[in-house]
Amino acid sequence: MNKLTFSIGGVHPHDSKLARECKIETLPLPQTVYVSMSQHLGAPAKPLVNVGDFVKVGQVIAEPGGFISAFVHSPVSGTVKSIAPRKDLAGNFQTHVEIAVEGDVWMEDIDRSKTLVKEITMDKEAILERIKACGVVGLGGATFPTHVKLNPAPGKVAECLIINGTECEPFLTSDYRIMIESPKEIIVGAAIMQKVLGGCRCVVGIEENKPEAIKTMSAAIKELGYPGIEVKVLKKRYPQGGEKQLIDAVMHRQVRSGGLPIDVGAVVQNTGTSLAVYEAVQKNKPLFTNVLTVTGDSIPVGMQHNYLFRIGTPLSFIVEQAGGLPEHAAKIISGGPMMGKAIANLEATTVKGSSSILYLSEEKTIRQSASNCIRCGRCADACPMGLEPFLLYRLTKAADMEGLEQNAVQDCIECGCCLYSCPANIPLLDYIRQSKAQVMGIIRSRNVKK
Ligand code: SF4
Ligand code: SF4
Repeated sequence: MNKLTFSIGGVHPHDSKLARECKIETLPLPQTVYVSMSQHLGAPAKPLVNVGDFVKVGQVIAEPGGFISAFVHSPVSGTVKSIAPRKDLAGNFQTHVEIAVEGDVWMEDIDRSKTLVKEITMDKEAILERIKACGVVGLGGATFPTHVKLNPAPGKVAECLIINGTECEPFLTSDYRIMIESPKEIIVGAAIMQKVLGGCRCVVGIEENKPEAIKTMSAAIKELGYPGIEVKVLKKRYPQGGEKQLIDAVMHRQVRSGGLPIDVGAVVQNTGTSLAVYEAVQKNKPLFTNVLTVTGDSIPVGMQHNYLFRIGTPLSFIVEQAGGLPEHAAKIISGGPMMGKAIANLEATTVKGSSSILYLSEEKTIRQSASNCIRCGRCADACPMGLEPFLLYRLTKAADMEGLEQNAVQDCIECGCCLYSCPANIPLLDYIRQSKAQVMGIIRSRNVKK
């Protein structure tokens, strides 16, 4: 097969997929869950339950707080103990609904059977309504509400649905395991989204370092027989899974600065999202579970896991179930080593988009002290967005917001390629992330005033 990739920048970190062979295990229920109202992009959800209420698994406990927002469902059955601010994994306070677990009583209208439902009977409007009602959000990192993304503005036409099966971040294996263990469900999910988008073609993009997933997904497509769906093999190159990079690789089209994928006829959804769409539409199961990888560079095979977890499970409970905090863990990260965020608080809980608990040893985390920029240009060569990270760094230090905006800091996808390439060990991403947030704030407030 011809292997596709994006046109500019990128790096080749070791893939370190140490949990690749670990089958998905169902994590036991904790005694208490804390369900965040801010686990999607957009406005926080508004609680619909009161302290003392008994809730069932899959029952709606919060409604969207705006157009870009999502329903939240109880991941367990039990009694609501509190609705109060609590620190998330970055240490920021967010409203959480605390539920003490009692039994495992599910809503009666959820189909819990393993039977594959292939036939897609609902029409577009009913599908979108169901996806919204089930609180489905993008599970590739952005957690953008899926029903909004699948309903492009008038005049915008989807020509290609890309299912992102690249999982290009080192260490992460949850998408890989679902492609191995639930390929048909993912393909039915893709066919549902294809129908909503008017029957456009669909490409499942998988990196070449996942031959088993390429095999299982190709076999599922053949067996199910939906028209217009195919697997495309992509080169192993980071950040191949970035939305704009994937569109470039598959469609050879560039999304302009400030533009959206739909501007070039693309809609990108992650494999996990496709599975969630299947479960919502064909099984009436809201999004209250996901798969997360527990992994690291210095932990034995027995402590590597891929867990099916209920959203709201405390991270500390998962760490304990996986064998405790490893002795050599110097840093704990949520997500991958390139784009993930350090976990400041193990009492924080999982959210819809949780993808990993990654332990890194001191050897992997010690940053050499930074020296002066030697103007080698490697950061610019590595940047997949065509930016000049050394310049953005200098503008950040000078607090030159106008210069930062002119040099498109807002286009940074926070992939970390610049940091990875810099021989002077300058913490480029830390600086750029900070100035990007400030510039985005300025752009938003300017748009509100208009
Ligand atoms: S983090 Fe931003 S500036 Fe650095 S390489 Fe990635 S896109 Fe470019
Ligand atoms: S890679 Fe580092 S040293 Fe080289 S130009 Fe960029 S910031 Fe300077």
